[in-house]
Amino acid sequence: MHDMMASIKKTDPEMYKLIKKEFGRQQLGLEMIPSENNVSKAVLQAMGSILTNKYSEGYPRKRYYGGNQFIDEVETLAIERAKKAFKVPHANVQPYSGSPANFAVYIATCKPGDVIMGQNLTDGGHLTHGWKASVTGQLFKSVPYHVKEDGYLDLDEIKQLAEKHKPKLIWVGATAYVREFPFEELGKIADNVGAYLAADIAHIAGLVIAGVHKSPVPYAHIITTTTHKTIRGPRGGMIMVTQKGLDKDPELAQKIDRAIFPGLQGGPHDHTTAAIAVALQEDLQPEFKDYCRQIVKNSKALAKSLMDDGIKIVTDGTNNHMILIDLTSFGKGKGVFVQEALDLAGITVNKNTIPAEPSSPFYPSGVRLGTPSLTTRGMKEKEMKIIGKWIADVIKEVKDFNLPEDKEERKAYIKGFKKAINKNENIGKIKKEVIELCKKFPLYPGFDILK
Ligand SMILES: *Cc1c(COP(=O)(O)O)cnc(C)c1O
Repeated sequence: MHDMMASIKKTDPEMYKLIKKEFGRQQLGLEMIPSENNVSKAVLQAMGSILTNKYSEGYPRKRYYGGNQFIDEVETLAIERAKKAFKVPHANVQPYSGSPANFAVYIATCKPGDVIMGQNLTDGGHLTHGWKASVTGQLFKSVPYHVKEDGYLDLDEIKQLAEKHKPKLIWVGATAYVREFPFEELGKIADNVGAYLAADIAHIAGLVIAGVHKSPVPYAHIITTTTHKTIRGPRGGMIMVTQKGLDKDPELAQKIDRAIFPGLQGGPHDHTTAAIAVALQEDLQPEFKDYCRQIVKNSKALAKSLMDDGIKIVTDGTNNHMILIDLTSFGKGKGVFVQEALDLAGITVNKNTIPAEPSSPFYPSGVRLGTPSLTTRGMKEKEMKIIGKWIADVIKEVKDFNLPEDKEERKAYIKGFKKAINKNENIGKIKKEVIELCKKFPLYPGFDILK
């Protein structure tokens, strides 16, 4: 590893400098985007290995190229670990990422024009669950379902929509949902109308492995996930087929495999496959359970700290790694100001829509944050209390900036806003404190990947 960076430093100093800058940003900032995490040295090493040199279209022992005897073992190890981690009979570890994994589910279960259902994007759902800007919303007849004003999924609406529209496929899972998913209830709704239920657990997969979130395995036919969020592996995706899925369609596993290759992709990224296997091995250790429990404890402590400071949280709390701040008590469309101001303080979050969003996805009224990365760094409740106070203070610093109603004026106004907060002394002071805290929790203790 050290040698690898030394080579980049020598042969491509321009790129070396950029990686170094990004490492500094990661090291000295609080990464609170809930879909991000910091992988282990072992995962980094697998990803940076010579496995990237190989072509291996096909599946273990069914390849189109020679020389795959060791790659077959690499992929089989990843598959077996995925099956063990989720307690499922079939796993495909080749999807390039979460979105292609979801596309493969459509290819395996639907024909263009079929009705599908998923959680609406502005209600926390993912683009690939049928949003109009995604091809999934264009190739299929998408019937979105919603959350109620209190932030919880509207099960009555889901049931009514399913009975009325008879979907072929129903998605459960989201990018912005802070409570447990009602997998069992969704399973019944899907069974009643003969639909496939696909659980997209991209965000919570690690929590599911650790038993900190209910598993969808008894209720869903198919499970998709990313491998780079709470699983804490390389960027990638996986698709699992459950026993319930095989009972509904004995060919479902082959249909999923064929949808990935040759349906959608070419050669798998073998170095990523190896890194997924390494991450799953870490996830199967007892310490990973402690890690996931701490993620949720931290999330709850952070929510409490914010609420104690008068900040509104969607559903008044959280059961997972994520918190959604509702900024509407300060006005509409405030997410962008808070995101920019927190960025300046060294706290990385993302603006996000909230239930019954009064503004728009580009200028939403909420902010989404999470604790997986901070927990990986070893931070606990004590640090969350301090960070919650910083975030609340930054929100209050920018509360008087209001998004212009006139769309033409917005860009210029935000530019002026950025100038103004650049000089804000209180935010500058918080940034210094953030850096001091980050120095106490190094990303890779005793291992400088840039040497
Ligand atoms: C992150 C995410 C995805 C997509 O993953 P990519 O790797 O970014 O393609 C899909 N579904 C959900 C629910 C997600 O959170």
